[in-house]
Formats: sequence, C-alpha cells, structure tokens
Amino acid sequence: MSDNIPPEKPINFIRHQLNDDLDSGLYKSIQTRFPPEPNGYLHIGHAKSICLNFGLAQDYHGKCNLRFDDTNPAKEDAEFVESIKNDVEWLGFKWDGEIQYSSNYFPKFYQYAIELINKNLAYVCFLDAEQTREYRGTLKQAGKDSPYRQTSIEENLDLLAKMKEGKFSEGECVLRGKIDMASPFMCMRDPTLYRIRFDKHHQTGNEWRIYPMYDFAHCISDAVEGVTHSLCTLEFQNNRYLYDWILEHLNDFNKPNRPHQYEFSRLNLEYTVMSKRKLQQLVEDGLVSGWNDPRLPTLSGLRRRGYTAASIRDFVERIGISKVDSMTDMKILEDAVRDDLNTIAPRTMGVIDPIRVIIENYPENQVETLQAPIHPQNEAMGKRDIFFSRELYIDRADFAEIAPNKKFKRLAIDKEVRLRNAYVINATSFDTDFDGNITTVYATYDPDTLGKNPTDGRKVKGVIHFVEASKALRAEFRLYERLFTLENPGKNDHFEQLLNPNSLIVTYGFVEPSMKDATLEMAYQFEREGYFCRDNQASDSLVFNKTVSLRDTWNGQ
Ligand code: ATP
Ligand code: MG
Repeated sequence: MSDNIPPEKPINFIRHQLNDDLDSGLYKSIQTRFPPEPNGYLHIGHAKSICLNFGLAQDYHGKCNLRFDDTNPAKEDAEFVESIKNDVEWLGFKWDGEIQYSSNYFPKFYQYAIELINKNLAYVCFLDAEQTREYRGTLKQAGKDSPYRQTSIEENLDLLAKMKEGKFSEGECVLRGKIDMASPFMCMRDPTLYRIRFDKHHQTGNEWRIYPMYDFAHCISDAVEGVTHSLCTLEFQNNRYLYDWILEHLNDFNKPNRPHQYEFSRLNLEYTVMSKRKLQQLVEDGLVSGWNDPRLPTLSGLRRRGYTAASIRDFVERIGISKVDSMTDMKILEDAVRDDLNTIAPRTMGVIDPIRVIIENYPENQVETLQAPIHPQNEAMGKRDIFFSRELYIDRADFAEIAPNKKFKRLAIDKEVRLRNAYVINATSFDTDFDGNITTVYATYDPDTLGKNPTDGRKVKGVIHFVEASKALRAEFRLYERLFTLENPGKNDHFEQLLNPNSLIVTYGFVEPSMKDATLEMAYQFEREGYFCRDNQASDSLVFNKTVSLRDTWNGQ
C-alpha cells in the first residue's frame, strides 16, 4: 500500500483502485475533477461528488480541478457558474489551477473529430430523429447501419466543415461515431458525437454552430487536463465503453495512463427532489422562493437554513461511497447538523408563540440584569446579559391551566417552574381573549431561587425559557417541514402537486436583546426550541430560519 493513504478514512472501492494504481506505478499521482454543468445551482447530491473528488485529491496529495461542463448552449447561464464557484468554496474546497471550461476545448474537440473521420471511425448522418430511432434497434434487437455509414472520408470531412460553418440547419445532420450497431450497449450503436445548435453560448457567443455531446466532450476534457480517475454516478456505467473507445482511438490519449472512469451510486434524499430540472421547475413556477429557498436541498438553500459546511462534509462521510443505489434518510443529514451545532451554536432564548407573564410580586419599573452562559459546555464562549422584570414572555405551549399529566414539567396554576437562567415562578391566574385563547398569565416569583433550589426543600422539576418584555426584540420565525409529502416525489410525473402545504410556517415572537446583532447565516440554539439561523436575505430585520429541532431526548435542562 502507498504511504500517503490516510488510515482513518474508511476504505471504499475507489480508494482501493487509487491504491492499486499508485502501487503499480500506473500513475505517479492522482487527479480528479468536479465537472458540473452550469444549468442550475448545486445540491446536496453534488456535495457528495465534491467531497469525494476534492477529498481524494487532498488525502492522496493529488489534484482536483473544477471544470464547467458547458457544452449545451441552450440551458446554461453565467449566473449558475458564479453560484457553483461560491458553493464549492463555501463547502471548504479549492480547485487546483485555473477554472476549466469544456468550451475552452471546442477547437480541440473539433480536431479530434477530424482525427476520427480520418480513421474512418466517424461519419455525418442525415437520418432524421425518427429514422435514427428506428435504425438503432432495441435492447433485444440489433440496430441496422445508417446508409450514411458508407460516405467517404473526404466527403465526411467536407460535411463536418459545412456543419461547423452553419451550412446546415439545426437537426439536419449529426456527426456519429462508427462503432457497432449490434452492440449490447445502446450507447455504442454509432452514438452522436456532434450536433448543430444555433443558440448563443455563454462563453463562446456565436462562434460555434456545432456542439459536442457529453460522451465525446467529457473523456477528452478529462484526458486534456490529465485527470487519472474520472468519478461519476452509476447511470453512466455503460457510457464507460464509449469513454474508453473514444480515448483509445485518439493518438494523443491511447496510453495506459489515460483517464479511467469509475462509477458510484448517486445520493437520493427522502422527501425532496434532486434533479436540477425538477428544482428549476419549482423555482420557475414560483413554488419556492428561489434556488436558495431554505426548504430546497440546494447548497445555497441548506446554508440559508443554517447548515454548516462542516455538517454537510460530515454527512457525506456518514453515508459513504458505494455502488448500491438507495434512498438516504433525511435524519442522517439532520443528525449531522445537530451534532455540529450542538458544539458550536451560541445559546439564546426566543419565544416563538408568545403569551405575557406578569410577575405580581416584582417591583414595577425595575429591570434586573442576569447572566447566562453562551454555551453551557464551553465556558470559553463567555456569558451574555439577560434581563428579568415584572413583565415577561413565555411560549404558549409552556402554560396550561391544569397540568394535563404528570409528565408536564411546565407552568400551570399552582405549579412551580424554573425560568431558565433565572427564578422559580408560580402561576396564580390568567386572562383569555374572546375566543378563549390565553393572553396573560399572572404569577409570583421566589426571589430566593436565583441559581439555587428553594431553601425549604420544594422540588421544582420543570424549566422553561422566557424573554423579558421591555427589552425583547420582535422577530420572525420561519419553521420548516419536509418539502414533499411523499418519500420519493421525483418518481411521480406531477411531483409539484405533492408539495407539503405546511413546509413553511411563519410565526412572530420575541428574542433576547443579545440577538440584536445576530450574525447573518449563523445558527443559534434557541434553548428548548431548536437551532435557528439568521436569514441571510433579511439583514435589516430579525428573521430566523429553523435549521433543525433539538434532539428528541432533550431533557429540559
Ligand atoms: P442533475 O441530475 O441534478 O441535473 P447532473 O448529474 O446532471 O445532476 P452535473 O452538473 O452534470 O449534474 O453533475 C456534476 C457532478 O455531480 C457529476 O459528476 C455528477 O455525477 C455529480 N452528481 C450530480 N448529482 C449527484 C448526486 N445526486 N449524487 C452524487 N453525485 C451527483
Ligand atoms: Mg447533467
């Protein structure tokens, strides 16, 4: 085994391959790449690929470059290029060298197409779409040769030049590889290598009238860049034969140390959709607020929701790399962010559904300053000032006239509870509005219970959070649930009709004054409520997006 393999990482089939290839001397060092098509924002599935590619390069002291696979002028956009760069950097990775664009290689692709024609391995085909389908055959039946397979090399060279010059209309002809119309792999039945497109390209403008297909462009791009291991998802398994065929038939690349493709299973997450086309549909139809809607599995959405880059990297480690397609439980993602935020998130108190509490035996016009730890397990994070006075807010769910059962460790009439970081209070009466909703609870406090238990041995089991009213800041809370009602909505043709109507609930409440300058995009733990992140799109108001709830086993302390 090579010396430079980090022992603590679980060994998967890709690491085995890398180890073998370094041990045998096939490569001196490894190079991977992350090759997004700039036709949407990155999602958590891409994070798996990013962490894999960049992570291997880091661990093996190799390289990983970022390449925009921009060979389709119709769907791509410079906005997506920028967002992808941002997301990769946010996740904590830096590409080696300059950013690459497949479009930079358009002249090269063209030269390699000419090489294939010269070797009698490619031809210009004028069959229309329906004829092409018919000639291709089926999985059970071999296809038949296109009549244009017989065109001479000279004529094909001339036809390709004409395609390039725009002499043919879109769809009139394509360049095809001359491989095998009876191959068991459909992608080897004379696949299209180039097609005509008159759209303007975001990098090359109107310079090109012909655009290479993914299969032709991808392997050549890998080879040009010196990629050793080209990692992609399982649906490209059969395309590997074409990947190999193209490189083996080009003089520049037909060497043992050319790039090789390996496939791993893609990430599928429950209760959401992941394909960029489907995400785009949700965005364009206004069913979500944008690509960075915190309910989406996009990296910009997750970040706005309060997910940290570390938690996403950790999630990817937890799910591992394999060749088995499966659905991943959302809980694994939620656990990863919880574990991270549990150690780093500053603690604070926020009342999401407020009712007033009047402490009748507390002096009017007095506000007391108390101190609370920013993180109970990490003293180094310091303390914050919180306040106490005659008027407070607590959460509606934390009061009941009569405790419904013995497990109810909250406030009820004649049932004491501790206010977190402050005193023990006891409820005496309450007011309701016309509909019977509780508006105000009247209570008394025990002044001798700050930081200690009642001296007469009374046991107070419950602890609830609160915010002092005169200094409280108004805040908006956005509470999220799963975006879809079904585990695998993407399977359904009308997935957009399966949206969960409760995926976003907005409430208005109060937070501690220490939250006045809460950092945008930073997650806090609102004690007993969950982790919330200050919305990065609302810098002039206090809007908090719920990242994830606290652990179910939370014990009220
Ligand atoms: P989508 O279906 O979402 O449009 P894509 O594969 O077309 O995804 P690309 O921009 O071409 O998106 O993907 C860039 C890289 O990310 C590819 O190597 C691809 O295999 C990988 N990738 C995309 N989706 C996932 C996923 N769900 N899990 C793992 N890797 C993924
Ligand atoms: Mg794609």
